[in-house]
Amino acid sequence: MKSQSGQPLEPVGLTDATIDDEFWSPRIETVRETTLDFVHERLVESGRIENFRVAAGRTEGEFQGRFYNDSDVYKWLEGACLFLATGADDDLRERVDEVVDLIAGAQEADGYLNTYFQLVEPEKKWTNLHVLHELYCAGHLFEAAVAHREATGEATLLEVATDFADHVDRRFGPDGEDGVPGHEEIELALVKLYRATDEERYLDLAQYFVDRRGAEDSRLKYEAFNPDAIAGEPYDHVVDDGEYDGRYFQDHAPLREQETVEGHAVRATYLYTGAADVALETGDEELIEVLEGLWENMTRKRMYVTGGIGSSYEGERFTEDYDLPNETAYAETCAALGSALWNQRLLRATRAARYGDLQSRTLHNALLAGLSLSGDRFFYANPHEMGRDGHPLHDVDPNRFANERQGWFRTACCPTNVPRLLASLATHVYASDDASVYVNHHIGSEATLEVADATVGVDVETSFPWDAETTVTVTPSEPATFELALRVPEWCADVSATVAGEPVDATPGEFLRVEREWAAGDAVRFEASFPVRFLGGHPNVESTAGSVAVQRGPIVYCLEGRDSPRPLHQVRLRSNGDVAVEHEPELLDGVTTLDLPALVPDQSRWEDGALYRPAAETDAEETTVRAIPYYGWANRGPDEMRVWVDAESEGPGRAE
Ligand code: ZN
Repeated sequence: MKSQSGQPLEPVGLTDATIDDEFWSPRIETVRETTLDFVHERLVESGRIENFRVAAGRTEGEFQGRFYNDSDVYKWLEGACLFLATGADDDLRERVDEVVDLIAGAQEADGYLNTYFQLVEPEKKWTNLHVLHELYCAGHLFEAAVAHREATGEATLLEVATDFADHVDRRFGPDGEDGVPGHEEIELALVKLYRATDEERYLDLAQYFVDRRGAEDSRLKYEAFNPDAIAGEPYDHVVDDGEYDGRYFQDHAPLREQETVEGHAVRATYLYTGAADVALETGDEELIEVLEGLWENMTRKRMYVTGGIGSSYEGERFTEDYDLPNETAYAETCAALGSALWNQRLLRATRAARYGDLQSRTLHNALLAGLSLSGDRFFYANPHEMGRDGHPLHDVDPNRFANERQGWFRTACCPTNVPRLLASLATHVYASDDASVYVNHHIGSEATLEVADATVGVDVETSFPWDAETTVTVTPSEPATFELALRVPEWCADVSATVAGEPVDATPGEFLRVEREWAAGDAVRFEASFPVRFLGGHPNVESTAGSVAVQRGPIVYCLEGRDSPRPLHQVRLRSNGDVAVEHEPELLDGVTTLDLPALVPDQSRWEDGALYRPAAETDAEETTVRAIPYYGWANRGPDEMRVWVDAESEGPGRAE
């Protein structure tokens, strides 16, 4: 790997770090207290847990819901276990035990486990990899099992997982049947299982799935053209004019030959994460370089300013360069999560701050918008603009493009994904190797790491994301020489930093790195400003033309109708005026708002009732509009909303 010490950074262990942060802790508590219970109730009501009870022969019944519903149970279980690993909760533990017992009971003698196939098409297992998600569900089981062992110290679920992984390993691979998952996930899960068990076959199988995807004689392609040979139905959208188009599931070319992010955005980011995981274990620098190239394409041409990805409602997917519509921004919450995972891996591999910056942008904006402040309402799609009458496509599919978060979805991937990420947030804050401690995020927290033959306590106190003051205090068990690295986000200005009182270099967009002998109580004090930034979009992006977006620190802002004196289509922001920045502890659980100078039409010009008049005879008057963080929109009832707002001039950069 490309690092000074020749090894990738390791993330801090789940139980070796805790979050204590004014911004994140309340959200994590909401997930623990509300979201987990709420989701569990929906899993019971919707028959998702009952499917395991039926498959285990504990009751009579039929399979309920969609063929991928097992994955929601596994993801809830993983989230619950991640919380249990860091805090006892008897009631939660009881529900975890019950679900684990049902899962173990449902597993077949040869290790197979998938309630849809067991109850609906038992003779057609493994015949439709491209649609029916068996390997995807298996991956989520593996992840839940690793978390369960971590939380309980018990091997019950881990044994279920390894029995199933062995089953998959016997079936697929160079010496077995050809195949790759139609929805990636098992790749990263197999690496996780390998790390938990030291069983190299799991790493090899993950590598096989990564390398086999996009082969000329693709198994997924065969299935798409042979409906009689498979369970269920084939996808017709991967066949275009009789030609196979595998881009939807990144099966159009071997990953190492891919240069653009393509297809279903959740599938894509899970693949890139799994591939990075394989590369981190095998030291495959070529693969990391391929992934960095894909990251460049995504961040320069196919990503929203919030970090949201997958711009198309059709296929929940990446499309063309610069195709980033605001009203129909799909930007699935799960895709934001996938991007956050992928960026964590790239940071570990390369130690480049840009991956931490994007992870931070994505977490604060694209991901957090998916969960209501109350913890029991969810966005699946995350539009970046909402009209006064809601969204026209809402009637087509009420789960999409709503102006209110929904309580549940038939496809419930997003509500079950957010808890597991927030429960493991601490593992994204710190990373280390023998000679370095990395503080990747300004999030209040504590960690204990083994570095330079010492046990090093690290404590982060911070005013992020509203203000830019952070103190990192280290407490090695004995004085020890190592590098301490703190990410300086690219949105900082006026940066200054000291170590034990002495100034050190700090550059936005890079890691501040200090190598010295550290003694207990030594601290890095970091201070910067968060200027309000008016951003313009690339000229090729239609939806941002003539508009600006506003960012301060990692937070991307939006306007909601209720905070504006006029409907939002009348508002033109002035990017050269003074902005009043105010922290409002009572608003939206505490946010910093921006009062932005704006122009709106002078109404008196239109009092004669004319519908049209010469443009030269219209006039504007000055006002201010209040911007709130994008993640906080739609928490005060349905409203219109804009991330990109018309600008007074052509946007920033026009000469005055
Ligand atoms: Zn989702």
